[in-house]
Amino acid sequence: MQIIEIYKSLQGESSYAGLPCVFVRAAGCNLRCVWCDSEYTFKGGKCMTLDEIESEVRRLSPDGGLVEITGGEPMLQEAQVVELMDRLLAAGYTVLLETSGERLLDKVPKPVVKVVDVKCPNSGEGGTFRVENLQHLTPRDEVKFVIASRTDYEFAREFIREHGLNGKGSSVILSPAFRKDASGSRDTSHCMLDPCDLAEWMLADGLNARLGLQIHKFIWEPSLKGV
Ligand code: SF4
Repeated sequence: MQIIEIYKSLQGESSYAGLPCVFVRAAGCNLRCVWCDSEYTFKGGKCMTLDEIESEVRRLSPDGGLVEITGGEPMLQEAQVVELMDRLLAAGYTVLLETSGERLLDKVPKPVVKVVDVKCPNSGEGGTFRVENLQHLTPRDEVKFVIASRTDYEFAREFIREHGLNGKGSSVILSPAFRKDASGSRDTSHCMLDPCDLAEWMLADGLNARLGLQIHKFIWEPSLKGV
């Protein structure tokens, strides 16, 4: 696989936020979200065999635990990434897959926790979500909307209602977009949408969803990579 980096940190998003996690960051993405904070993944990386990746994961977290396969878009390397996830599951890890939702997810092993984005209009990549992927969600999966404006919020709210996402058992997360050039202070001034506004909209609409903050951006300096 073409890999940008493998490192251990705290999980910053999803319902696993705050837990120690090994991140396997795959190279390459076919989308260009305007607020993307991972543009350094678009090119380059290092070719690693699955044995090398697995052994680095075992070195960083020898006693099992959480591993997230992320990117870039890991599902661009579907055949290898599916085999890697099978291996990590067999080795006893809890495996998360962070994906844009633009690739079909039918081959992802069932025990993997899929954290699937639905891109909102202000991402610049609205309309890329593969609706067929809703059929492949399990109750352990999480559907995430990154929200930059009221327009994005209303899109997410209608998508959740239209597709009955709250009734499918999967968690739904709405997360304020973070400015990609954020640096310096570790506070919500870097959010493109005030989390307080988002919280009030969700409560006013009775939306049964989780408000997610990328906690690593509040723990470490927001421009730091590899955390
Ligand atoms: S899908 Fe993810 S990695 Fe790709 S451009 Fe969007 S935010 Fe960046």
